[in-house]
Amino acid sequence: MSTPGGCFSWFSWSKSRNPKPSPTLQQPSLPSVEHKGPERRQYITACDHSLSDPTTWWLSTDISPPAYNSSESFDAQVIDLKVDEIDSQLRSLSMRIHAHPELGFAEVFAHEILTEFMTAHGFTVTKSYLGIATAFRAEYTHGKGGRVVGVNSEYDALKGIGHACGHNLIAVSGCGVAIAIKAALEAHNVAGTVVLLGTPAEEGGGGKVILLEKGGYADMDLCLMCHPNPGPINSVGVATSTALQQLDVEYFGQNAHAAAAPWEGRNALDAAFLAYGSISVLRQQMRPDHRVHGIITSNEEWLPNVIPDHAKMQWVARAPNASDLALFVERVKNCLQAAALATSCEMKLTLGQAYLDLRQNSVLGGYIPCLSRLLLTCFSIGAEFADVMKRYKVSAVAETSISASTDFVRSLEPHHHHYNVLTSVFPKGNVTYVLPALHPGFAIPTEPGQGNHTAGFAKAAASQKAHNATMLVTKGLAHTGFRALRDEAFFKQVKAAFPS
Ligand SMILES: [Zn+2]
Ligand SMILES: [Zn+2]
Repeated sequence: MSTPGGCFSWFSWSKSRNPKPSPTLQQPSLPSVEHKGPERRQYITACDHSLSDPTTWWLSTDISPPAYNSSESFDAQVIDLKVDEIDSQLRSLSMRIHAHPELGFAEVFAHEILTEFMTAHGFTVTKSYLGIATAFRAEYTHGKGGRVVGVNSEYDALKGIGHACGHNLIAVSGCGVAIAIKAALEAHNVAGTVVLLGTPAEEGGGGKVILLEKGGYADMDLCLMCHPNPGPINSVGVATSTALQQLDVEYFGQNAHAAAAPWEGRNALDAAFLAYGSISVLRQQMRPDHRVHGIITSNEEWLPNVIPDHAKMQWVARAPNASDLALFVERVKNCLQAAALATSCEMKLTLGQAYLDLRQNSVLGGYIPCLSRLLLTCFSIGAEFADVMKRYKVSAVAETSISASTDFVRSLEPHHHHYNVLTSVFPKGNVTYVLPALHPGFAIPTEPGQGNHTAGFAKAAASQKAHNATMLVTKGLAHTGFRALRDEAFFKQVKAAFPS
């Protein structure tokens, strides 16, 4: 079964004064409204820029290199200089992948040029890693012993709209992080290993889940990756994400002549219609941090004069965490079942792949916003990545949009029988639950309404400014990963912050 697929976004409370209407909205007849008074909180979605100033969507390119303290015990510039040195090579790789979009598990071109690149930079490369044709592992070890830091590169695209999720940027960031850490291991003679995993099929197929099941993450002490998204200028988001459950439902009725003998029929399309309506009604009563969205999949054999005997729907329910999701899925299922009862149709419900919330390691990342109960609680313990990004004048913020890779978070075993109970499902794959991990989202320049999975985002992912933003996050992740390799006390903190 295909997964609901692809990176997804979380939503948050955002502080705003005098929100400005989106330039895409035509409201010439409305007087402008000045919102005066105390600062108020707005509820925004990840890709919604309608309340922000367009000039802040873009990342400046005039960021000066950070000033390092010469008294530091090591030369932090090694990482920055290495990323700068390979910047143009990474840009070229990114553009080639962008110009040659490939769907999940068919990323032959990207697999080829990325493995070639990592080999050229002194890594031991295993193509088609663990039997997955377009996965790879690129590894470098310095000295004996030491810890292992893992990095992920994604490179799959979306059907019809190419690199509309910016995975070309993730691909080259992974390469840059790994190569910069290699340089630092050599320069400071630190024993340790860096492993870059090429992880196919994030947009549907769960490449990382498969790699995890096959042992692809077994030797890693921690794992890093990043993902582009819309957002305020110079920002990275270190945040959690929603849990989600896919529900596939089929209704089975009885054909009949719609005019001559409709009483002999049982209308499966009516069942789908009622289910759609019931869930739309449910939407009014659900918590604002929940989502449910779905479609009636088309059936070309439907005719207006034949009572349809079969209809299919696909739904995705989302909630902040596993327990909320379990409760919410039950409410959605009630709507689906009620439609079957009302129309005397039979229902087959299949719960597809579920993903739970993303766990950011608080010591690596610094911030853990909690969406539960609409309270954004941020803990700051260590804040390594956030601290590092400040050097580049990039803020690590909890209150911004973020995209995350679905297969980097907890995944649950798909199950295919009626009325299964979500909470009884055994965890299947689970990168951020298996080892300490950090997965920041970072802002790239986007147009209004052109967030992830739009043609506009594909265009943004090819821009020089998006590349520049990617390089800053690459440096930040490399610094964070290298510290975990060289600093025993720091890594102990990382481990201590890892939930058991
Ligand atoms: Zn995506
Ligand atoms: Zn994505």
